[in-house]
Amino acid sequence: MSKPTMSKPTPSQTAFVPFVSVDNMMRLVHSLGIEEMLKGLAAYIEEDFRRWELFDKTPRVASHSKVGVIELMPASDGEAYAFKYVNGHPKNTREGLQTVTAFGLIADVYTGYPVLLTEMTLLTALRTAATSAMVARVLAPEGARTMAMIGNGAQSEFQATAFRVLCGVDTLRLYDVDPSATGKVVRNLSGEGFDLTICRSPEEATEGAQIITTCTADKQLATILTDNMVGTGIHINAIGGDCPGKTELHRDILMRSDVFVEYAPQTRVEGEIQQMPDDFPVTEMWEVIIGAKPGRASQSQITLFDGVGFAIEDFSALRFVRDRIGETDFFQNLDMLADPDDPRDLFGMLRRAR
Ligand code: NAD
Repeated sequence: MSKPTMSKPTPSQTAFVPFVSVDNMMRLVHSLGIEEMLKGLAAYIEEDFRRWELFDKTPRVASHSKVGVIELMPASDGEAYAFKYVNGHPKNTREGLQTVTAFGLIADVYTGYPVLLTEMTLLTALRTAATSAMVARVLAPEGARTMAMIGNGAQSEFQATAFRVLCGVDTLRLYDVDPSATGKVVRNLSGEGFDLTICRSPEEATEGAQIITTCTADKQLATILTDNMVGTGIHINAIGGDCPGKTELHRDILMRSDVFVEYAPQTRVEGEIQQMPDDFPVTEMWEVIIGAKPGRASQSQITLFDGVGFAIEDFSALRFVRDRIGETDFFQNLDMLADPDDPRDLFGMLRRAR
């Protein structure tokens, strides 16, 4: 696996920046196969979680409005620097727009020059699913094969596929307040190796499930799951609550669960645990991955992944795409960086172009 370069590049290497459009991202996913892409992303994310301590980390920078949020998510391992621009606007689907859209960039720390710019709407869905499944592989009860999927929007099929590929989930119990969303999931996942059940309530969806995924979108303190729906031994993958004032779980569930997070300073502001006191105990997932802290300790324990999405996962995803597109034509070269023959003669370059 290649590492970001910090070697001196030649001018011709730096003049153009490879750009992966939505169309080319879809070509990349199909050429690798979505299963391989999810496995590859999970491997890169796990590798970066193992290197967690060397990253320059910060909670994402969020700009809130009444209808949504726009966020910047930076991270650096000292050799490469990456950031993602992402929005979250639950009302957008009513206007025919995506709730979440994103693009991102990875740069060489040695020159500061970008080495890849890419769409990240698809890539975010893939990396979120890969992260959730990588975490569940460690925390879910042994032999878990049935998952409740509450919220059947844009993220849901990606989540389901990652749980099939990485965790062996083959039975889905689907619920959404909008039955047409559930119908869409059934159409998209038919013939994909799942036993699918459409449920009429979240209670019905959780019956017999060993894993519960909540991925709803609503800008409020919602209660998608109440305490009575969560039996012992369950793993909850809660990814829809990811902003101040936007949660999915009743706080009583948090009291009964062992809570695992990505980066506590960000999750305490944005995650389900925003409902709890600042010293509420949580475990950062990287500590479990490196074996420094326990994950699931018993079959009766309730484990809760309070996933909000962290910049290192986007760094890993950008690294993965950068490593895969080299030998392909799944990118265009963008004339994004001024490149005068004499680096100090920027003005002369402009004059000569007149
Ligand atoms: P989406 O708008 O496409 O889908 C959300 C679905 O939730 C819709 O079908 C809606 O009908 C349903 N829903 C809303 N309220 C519900 C309720 N009370 N019960 C059942 N269903 C309900 O959104 P999406 O792109 O699938 O994203 C889902 C959520 O995941 C969003 O809140 C988004 O911000 C979040 N998200 C988190 C991460 C992360 O890393 N944790 C990454 C991407 C998206």
